Amino acid sequence: MELLQYPNPTLFRKCADVAVGDLASIELAHEMAAKLYEWNGIGLAAPQVGILKKIAVIDLREEPRVLYVLINPRITWRSVEVEESNEGCLSLPLLRETIFRHKTITLEYLDENFSPKVIQRAEGLLSFCIQHEIDHLNGHLFIDHMSKLARARVVQKFKKLREESVLPNTKAVSHENGAQ
Ligand SMILES: [Zn+2]
Repeated sequence: MELLQYPNPTLFRKCADVAVGDLASIELAHEMAAKLYEWNGIGLAAPQVGILKKIAVIDLREEPRVLYVLINPRITWRSVEVEESNEGCLSLPLLRETIFRHKTITLEYLDENFSPKVIQRAEGLLSFCIQHEIDHLNGHLFIDHMSKLARARVVQKFKKLREESVLPNTKAVSHENGAQ
């Protein structure tokens, strides 16, 4: 399982639903969780490891620790109110940018036993991280929330970092950065 980085075209493709009962997808989710910890991220979506299925894993590393395995996640309600979210992405290492996201959301998904679950009125980091991962499943990156000009500036910055080879390997991306 390899981490795909911008501008890998797989990151811009939409994911397909997981078939209920597809145990291979659950196995995949567990492998993704292992990678999430190895890479010190707080969230990882399947396209980031080259798989176009609606699977994401989240562990915000807050107490009490919770690992969310999200199969076919769907935001069913979003607040009109938005809030600033300062984000990083494992697929765009070293970048941190502030964007606006819905403040509060309700999420429906299947857990690793294919049981329907609901997260009601998620706020703060959980809300932002869920929105970030669902963006990935729809072929979007967090920088897509920026203005055209700001996005272009950020992409330039990323390319420069990469050319200068100052990009760390993924292990060096600390979860202090909250990469998702
Ligand atoms: Zn990301």
